[in-house]
Order: sequence, then structure tokens, then C-alpha cells
Amino acid sequence: MAIPGANKIKPSEKGGFIIKEETMLEVIAGGMFAGKTDELIRRLERHSIARRRVALVKPGLDTRTAKVKTHNGKEFDSIIVGNNDTITIEKIILENEVVGFDEGQFFSEAVYQLLKACEQSGTNKIIIVCGLDMDSEGKPFGIMPKLMAIAHDVTKLHAVCENCYGPANISFSMVEKKEQILIGGKNEYKALCWKCAVKEDEG
Ligand SMILES: [Zn+2]
Repeated sequence: MAIPGANKIKPSEKGGFIIKEETMLEVIAGGMFAGKTDELIRRLERHSIARRRVALVKPGLDTRTAKVKTHNGKEFDSIIVGNNDTITIEKIILENEVVGFDEGQFFSEAVYQLLKACEQSGTNKIIIVCGLDMDSEGKPFGIMPKLMAIAHDVTKLHAVCENCYGPANISFSMVEKKEQILIGGKNEYKALCWKCAVKEDEG
């Protein structure tokens, strides 16, 4: 019996299998504490096991560490790049088969154009971008909405609302902030649903 699509499966140089011949842009979006980076690392680890060349990049704005660490303590080596450094990013994409992007909301319009060109020109890469879909006020964040629009696949994750335990929608800021930048942890932000966020704002 013929397996549908089986003729599309071709061995890659290193023995792994690339099932798709076109570029695949995957987006993992959601608020803080939703497990986005855990999901990104899970996917990258699977590609590593399948012997694909894998890289993870994160924007230089957040220079705390060269390792990407999740709130659950998972770790993955990453290359820190400028959020507008398309030359380095393009080089990393050319040298790898799978490239993950953490903190996708911080990358520039030029990086969005580069990823869009990859997705639409069939460069045979798997690109997985993880990032915040909204800022702490619920506004669409950076290039994430556009990436979600052009992506082949979008996964939207939700944290648990800390007040009512329903699905959370936004990363509510508990501190005064001046810019649309969300860096921090449980001391600065909490996951809330829309209803609880409105109550918190009023209270
Ligand atoms: Zn709630």
C-alpha cells in the first residue's frame, strides 16, 4: 500500500529525514508562563535527535545568559544576535537545517522580511519562532502578529490565570514600565485572563 506523501521523504546529508521540501515557518505564541520556550526547546531537541543541524538564536537585548532557560529550568545553548542583525541571522539559517528564535517579539522588521523571504522562497529550512503575541497591555507585540499571519503553523499557548485559574490571556505588569519591553519573571508579571486584568486595573 502506498503511503500518501512518502515520495516526498528524502534523506538529508546527515541521515535525518526532511519530510517537507519547502521552508516551514512555525510560530509558538502566547503570554508569559505559557510554556512557549519549553515547547520551542522540545521541538529543537527532537530535530537534534533526528540528526538535523539545529541552532537557537535570541536577541541581544536580553543578554542575561548565552543559554536559553525556561521558567521550568530547561536549558538550550543559544547564539545571541542583534535584533536587527540580518547578516548574522541569514548566515545561521544557511548553516543549519532548523533554526529556533526565542523572544521573537523583539526582532526587527528587517528580520521579519528575512524570515518571510525564507518561508516564501522555499529554502528548505525549518524555522521556529517563539514569542509574546501581546504586551502587558494586550497590544499585539512587534513582528509576532505578522509572523503568525504568514506562518505555516501557529501554536498559541495559554498560561493559567493566577486569580481565577482559567486560561490566561495577558502578561499583566505589576511594576511601572516605560517601554513595550517585557523582561522579567514572577516578581514583575503575572498571567491573567482579560476579566481579571480589568478588575486588577480598576482595583
Ligand atoms: Zn482570571
